[in-house]
Amino acid sequence: MQYNVSLKPYNTFGIEVFAKAFEKVYSEEDIINFIRKKPSNEALFVLNGGSNMLLTKDVNAWVMKLELKGLAVISETSSEVIIEAKSSENWHEFVLYCLANNWGGLENLSLIPGNVGSSPIQNIGAYGVEIKDTFVSLEAIHIPTLETHTFTNEECKFGYRESVFKNEFKNQYIITAVRFRLSKAPHKIHTTYGVINQELQKMGISSPTITDVSNAVIRIRQSKLPDPKEIGNSGSFFKNPVIDKKTFQEFQKQNPDAPFYEVSANEFKIPAGWLIEKSGLKGYRNGDAGVHTKQALVLVNYGNASGKEILEVAKHVQDTVFQNFKIHIQPEVNII
Ligand SMILES: Cc1cc2nc3c(=O)[nH]c(=O)nc-3n(C[C@H](O)[C@H](O)[C@H](O)COP(=O)(O)OP(=O)(O)OC[C@H]3O[C@@H](n4cnc5c(N)ncnc54)[C@H](O)[C@@H]3O)c2cc1C
Repeated sequence: MQYNVSLKPYNTFGIEVFAKAFEKVYSEEDIINFIRKKPSNEALFVLNGGSNMLLTKDVNAWVMKLELKGLAVISETSSEVIIEAKSSENWHEFVLYCLANNWGGLENLSLIPGNVGSSPIQNIGAYGVEIKDTFVSLEAIHIPTLETHTFTNEECKFGYRESVFKNEFKNQYIITAVRFRLSKAPHKIHTTYGVINQELQKMGISSPTITDVSNAVIRIRQSKLPDPKEIGNSGSFFKNPVIDKKTFQEFQKQNPDAPFYEVSANEFKIPAGWLIEKSGLKGYRNGDAGVHTKQALVLVNYGNASGKEILEVAKHVQDTVFQNFKIHIQPEVNII
């Protein structure tokens, strides 16, 4: 165990805060030993890829840095494969591994930062696909009893950037492995969402393979999302708000040009990035904390911003959007 450890290298916002105690765990056994030796009056904090958290203060807890690695084919037929990845496999490298084997289903989720074990927590999604579409089950250690539980897709209660692990089981489990059902060729590809088709056209591709779709997604993402290695950020800071029909009708009357997506007969999703941009906040900056110049949904650390300063920018964005549109936008990022 190490004490008073800087977490700057372990979070993509690049925020300097200190952990009271810190240790890397490489196996289920390590996890159990860590929990057993942690004094009961000390809190536990689980850290994986660190790409979905804003650290606003020192972490007064025992920080468990997950380092569980490994990939295994669980079963296979002529049309599909079930693959298991341990929690700290890097997500994008896992996607590339599946593509190299010509297994389809994750290509639209290329280049999402973070690790596999965190992917079910917020049901990561991009370009019309979420992990719930291919997720089979996960293994997790129940922190209070140290028992291992299997959760099926249904038991995870996946929703838009939601799962049971953000709600009733928040901080109750440590996910150790995740299984996905992926297709073998011929694949069903998803290219209608966003500008994937346009990008494929630019690339001169008319009958795309899953690798072509992945390459198109990578190109789009690289053109508009800042690379955390160059500028600290946590991807989309806010969720796209979902509003009821009455609020939507009122909103549409005032903003006939606003993009929207009909979730159900009574629910409409509005792009938070549009609301922020229309509020004049794209590129807004206060010291080293700000809103990205190309993508209004992303808050950035230009150098030495503290977590509190980023949070102040986030609050300013929320308040301004509410003043302008009477819509609350909520953070997608975990604020610690
Ligand atoms: C540039 C950029 C782009 C992004 N784009 C997208 C996107 O398109 N779509 C999307 O959905 N997300 C996106 N994200 C967010 C992020 O990549 C995902 O949320 C990712 O799943 C976080 O993984 P992580 O390993 O970094 O999690 P961490 O940040 O380490 O952890 C996130 C939370 O989960 C908990 N946790 C992590 N692992 C476990 C575990 N094994 N067991 C129990 N609890 C755990 C942590 O305690 C923490 O509360 C983006 C982030 C960045 C920086």
